[in-house]
Amino acid sequence: MTSKQPVRTAPVPPSPAAGEGPPRAHDAGVSRVGGHPVLDFANTVAWRLDPARAVARVRGAEAWTRWGVAVGLLTVEGAEASSGAADSAPAETSADAPAETAPTETAHAETSATALQDLRAVLWPVLDALVEGEEPPAAAWEALRRDLVRAREDADLLPGFPLRWRPRADGLDGLRHTLALRAEDLLGGDELARVRRCEGPGCGWFFLDRSRGGTRRWCSSGDCGNRDRARRHYARTRQRG
Ligand SMILES: [Zn+2]
Repeated sequence: MTSKQPVRTAPVPPSPAAGEGPPRAHDAGVSRVGGHPVLDFANTVAWRLDPARAVARVRGAEAWTRWGVAVGLLTVEGAEASSGAADSAPAETSADAPAETAPTETAHAETSATALQDLRAVLWPVLDALVEGEEPPAAAWEALRRDLVRAREDADLLPGFPLRWRPRADGLDGLRHTLALRAEDLLGGDELARVRRCEGPGCGWFFLDRSRGGTRRWCSSGDCGNRDRARRHYARTRQRG
């Protein structure tokens, strides 16, 4: 075995594979269709609005660490400092490797991963209310308030302008606080009006609509958009036949 490999699992490229059109977004481990890290975070469950198909794309401390690095919110160093959740090698193959992670650290990392998933579950009803033009549900709003206060409490106010908070915590706790602060930016900023939810039945993914006319309907034209075209084609052929 060589020396310890940092978390460099390949980040998902934002551009489509050559020749083949865009990759099918729902099949990818890490989707970037949201165009904002908070929306990509919310999109880590595919088919969120279809209980029969819903599938968590990111689960557990290791996977969240890789996700944080892939979306650029965690540095490799910060990820390593967190928890030992950084080592991406499967446990079975590293029986001869030195133990790098104390059990309590692993337990802490898994608790932090669960807290991340709790934040995600708070953001879903808030974002749903936003795109539906409704008031956010009181319980989710209060949970969001607590997450924001906690994130600020644990952050340094960087000296200088423009004013910025930087979470003190490393690893997944820092990732959670970063996401909370970014959520505050998103929900209180100019891009708020561009947040959309994919119209694909059951999809539930969010994205920033940066199209000029504000007419984007799909998380991915190669995925939910394609399915819609197929549905309409099927309906047309049935009408004719
Ligand atoms: Zn979709």
